[in-house]
Amino acid sequence: MNAETRQTVVVDGLALANEIRDELSEAVNRHVQAGRRAPRLAVVLVGDDPASASYIKGKQRACSRVGMDSEEHDLPGSASQQEIIDVVERLNADDRVDGILVQLPLPKGVDANAVTGAIDPEKDVDGLHAVNAGRLLLGLPCLTACTPLGIMKILECHKIPLEGAQAVVIGRSNIVGKPVSLLLQQKNATVTMCHSRTRDLRAECRRADVLVAAVGVPMLVKRDWVKPGAAVIDVGVSVVDGKLTGDVDTDAVQGVASIVTPHRRGVGPMTITMLLENTLQAYENRTGV
Ligand code: NAD
Repeated sequence: MNAETRQTVVVDGLALANEIRDELSEAVNRHVQAGRRAPRLAVVLVGDDPASASYIKGKQRACSRVGMDSEEHDLPGSASQQEIIDVVERLNADDRVDGILVQLPLPKGVDANAVTGAIDPEKDVDGLHAVNAGRLLLGLPCLTACTPLGIMKILECHKIPLEGAQAVVIGRSNIVGKPVSLLLQQKNATVTMCHSRTRDLRAECRRADVLVAAVGVPMLVKRDWVKPGAAVIDVGVSVVDGKLTGDVDTDAVQGVASIVTPHRRGVGPMTITMLLENTLQAYENRTGV
């Protein structure tokens, strides 16, 4: 097919997320019907950032829709690192809690690595603890960061071939860029990781059969950065003039990409769904059912 006339599929991340949530709901229901308690997620919110508060509410709503329990622990923005860690340690010791999530970013002066490092790795549903990150690196079973898991599900559901494919990931964060690069490599893709010091980003992107943009620079990826037929996953979330914008000029890549995730209803709903999946996995690992 001519590159200019290619039909680009706009991924419906919400529909896909809903399908997976139905399956999760059935799995939770089976546990409850068998007389067991429901899986429980504890979320910790520090400070009063409205975006963080809204993310936390969305995660709790998602839990309740699949029949999982959740609880919220709010601390003031003035809380010390040790006070946050004390809450995490209480949740580690609480046998009814299967997953612990500390909403990032944390206030200035708090070392996020120290806080996530205090979470029991078995309850680390964000997959940020060094034990889980290390196990991912070694290819061992682990709790894996939610956005990378969601990206892999999107690629799988759209039957994007990964074996031997050229995958380019822009961004090298611990929460998206690094783990998604490892997951793509596990599927036998040849992965190039790009970042703020990459010399010719456009040329790197042009080679990609699978392009993942996790940067936070609005509309960084233009039409002529995309190889015809490439699968383009836009992770970035920025607000420009009050409007949600991603790292990819999604309108411009229409007709070139094979699939593209939209700014809304793309990767976001899948991220929350993978948090639910991780919470169920943590519950099943911990309770041995
Ligand atoms: P981060 O800020 O930790 O990392 C950004 C990365 O981009 C860095 O590795 C940096 O080297 C690279 N970078 C910065 N400027 C660049 C440039 N001009 N060219 C090439 N590389 C550049 O970010 P993060 O936490 O990985 O998040 C990335 C984006 O994804 C943000 O917009 C964030 O809001 C969004 N995000 C979305 C979801 C979701 O569920 N939709 C989840 C996590 C993150």
